[in-house]
Amino acid sequence: MAEQVALGPLDSREGGNDNLESHSSEAHCLGAARSTRSLGWRPTERRNAVGARALYMMDCGSGEFDYGVLVAMQRPGEKVVSPFSACLIDTDDGPVLVETGIDPDGLKDPTAAAGEKAGAVKLLLREEDDIRMRLGEIGLMPEDVRYVVLSHMHWDHAGGCRFFPHAMCVVQRAEYRFALYPDSAFRKSFVPHHFRGVERLDLREGDGEVVPGVWVLSAPGHTPGQQAVLVSLPESGKMLLAFDAIDTWENIERNTVSGIPWNSALALESMHRLVQLAKRENATLVPGHEPDCWSKLKRSPDCYR
Ligand SMILES: [Zn+2]
Repeated sequence: MAEQVALGPLDSREGGNDNLESHSSEAHCLGAARSTRSLGWRPTERRNAVGARALYMMDCGSGEFDYGVLVAMQRPGEKVVSPFSACLIDTDDGPVLVETGIDPDGLKDPTAAAGEKAGAVKLLLREEDDIRMRLGEIGLMPEDVRYVVLSHMHWDHAGGCRFFPHAMCVVQRAEYRFALYPDSAFRKSFVPHHFRGVERLDLREGDGEVVPGVWVLSAPGHTPGQQAVLVSLPESGKMLLAFDAIDTWENIERNTVSGIPWNSALALESMHRLVQLAKRENATLVPGHEPDCWSKLKRSPDCYR
């Protein structure tokens, strides 16, 4: 029987999924949000397949920036140190890497990692935050990675793509298009040289399975092709990795988006949908840039099984 992983600010209450109940009930519009878009999709359950065996949450450094980047219009002038992350999922079909971390050239040259955003964020990187070193800590080389899933293609998620040219890159078609030719107002968050390593593409249009036990969930708004990832583990149960579709718990509590979405209405609708999907699937919800959540997660080389 799968056990729920307890995370988030409400651990002292009764475990991970109660967090979700509590967060969603505090955000009173979430119930109504169900009417705007049907949850529709259900994960394909396969008999006699273990699918995903382990989930490693990898530290890829952190950044200091305005709090309003995470929660629109909140705490003006206040800085926050927020985590950058990637995940490695060990599956029957080989290692699946979700996100490729920060471009390690950013250690010496912040613009190599953050492009035109380098002036707005103070990068806090260590050598070991390099995705190749994080993989090495669990005995993997970059060439062992079979699939790279990108939640979206912003600089803090796609910085290490060039180390995985052999892997199949699973990304939403809308994201790939937009990352190559972004509207001028959103250009600064994409760093074109990060994508040069993306050679094998599996362009998705909506929800679907990556390998048994791992699914992508379309969650547009932060960017045109933002997606989340659902993982089903034998002991820990399901975990829904929202990435930048839900940056922090406060986005849910205040029913508001991050500071710089491509489309605010879509971003809100996607957040509502992911919260409802997590409830329906009894999944532990992991926001993308929540310092409090990240500090409570088991970090690689430890893992969820
Ligand atoms: Zn991000």
